[in-house]
Parts: sequence; C-alpha cells; structure tokens
Amino acid sequence: MEKESILVVEDEERISNLIKLYLEREGFSVLLAQEGNEALKVFKEKRPDLVILDLMLPGIDGLEICRLIRQSSTVPILILTAKDEETDKVVGLSIGADDYITKPFSPKELVARVKAHLRRTKYWQAPKEEILGDGRIKIDTGSRQVWLNGKEVKLTALEFDLLKTLASSPSRVFSREQLLDLVWGVNYFGDPRVVDVHIGNIRKKIERDPSAPEIIKTVRDVGYKFESLK
Ligand code: CA
Repeated sequence: MEKESILVVEDEERISNLIKLYLEREGFSVLLAQEGNEALKVFKEKRPDLVILDLMLPGIDGLEICRLIRQSSTVPILILTAKDEETDKVVGLSIGADDYITKPFSPKELVARVKAHLRRTKYWQAPKEEILGDGRIKIDTGSRQVWLNGKEVKLTALEFDLLKTLASSPSRVFSREQLLDLVWGVNYFGDPRVVDVHIGNIRKKIERDPSAPEIIKTVRDVGYKFESLK
C-alpha cells in the first residue's frame, strides 16, 4: 500500500522537523514547505492526503493558503495557531480548515488528530449510498451532494459529514462529544467548541435565517439535532 502523504507548511524548521519525525515514525510520507508559494506548488504537484498549515508564515499567510487550497480540494486541513491567535483559528475554520491545534502542542496529539482526519476521509470514500433529508433539504451520501429547495449547496467535506450524521437520525439529539466521536473519530481530543463553529458554518449555507435555525436545531445544554419535517 502506498504511504499516505502529509504536507507540513511551517517556516520554523525546529517545529516542522519535529512534526516530520513523528509522522514518519507512524509510516507517513512527509512533504515540507516553508512559505506559501512553495506550499501551493507542492500541493498542486503532489496532492497530499492531508495538510498541516501554520498560520504565521512569511509572504502569503496561512489563512490565504487555506482559502486557495479549498478552491480546488476537500483535503483535510489542520491549522497550527499560537495561543494569542484566537480569532485566526475561528476565521480558519470558517474558510474551510477542518481543525486547529494550538502551539505549543504535543506531537502525539498532533499525530492522533492526523490519523482521525485521515480515517474520516477514508470512511467517506466508500459511503453507503442513500438519500437523507426531507422536502427542504436533500442529502445524497453517495455523490456527497446537498440540495436546498432543489438548489445545490456546496459544503466542505467535514461540514457534509456533520450534516449527514445529524440527518441520518432525524430528531435524535447528539451531544458535541458524540459528534466529535462520530465525525472526527474516537481518538480525537480536540475542543468540543469546534463542533459549534462548523455547525455555524453549515447554518450560514442552509438556513433561511442562521440566527433562528429551522433545520439544525440547538438543544440547550445538550447539543444539536436535525429537525425533520417528516
Ligand atoms: Ca510560523
């Protein structure tokens, strides 16, 4: 089997070498880039299975790289942020990054996240084909397309998995932790608040009024549910 490849975009060599060491030890092939243009070039040529992207880079910043990669790919993108870049990680998730890790991070945790995201993408490469949803929204798990009142809506891979999970059991309430387990994978140790950010992004795309959602409802103090019209 061909090794899964991971592109690490980070200008601090000490950090990128550490990440490389840990990922190679787990059997991944690792590509390194120190700045944006190089990263985009390597991405285009090598089509890695996952991207780890530092936000603080010389030249094109990480958020812009994330945006550019997302224009042509649903590859999992994990962003690295410093503690004081709280707003950047929210922006990162809203423009299509799947996850973030705050520096300083434990390499073991990083590896666990990488594996969780790769498992998730493998899982959706061989989906069970069915049509979920109701009169308003139609979710095709085979082609991974979503239509809202007959009009196609573009979701990121992670947004799709989250919506599909909720819609597969209409009216069932899922806690944030359950959604992390089902969508991100059981070895994911991230902040449950990433669920809220991604739900917010989905709502902007599918709800008439994202502040008064009718399709994905918040169940206070518990989590979320897909409200079926059926
Ligand atoms: Ca950096």
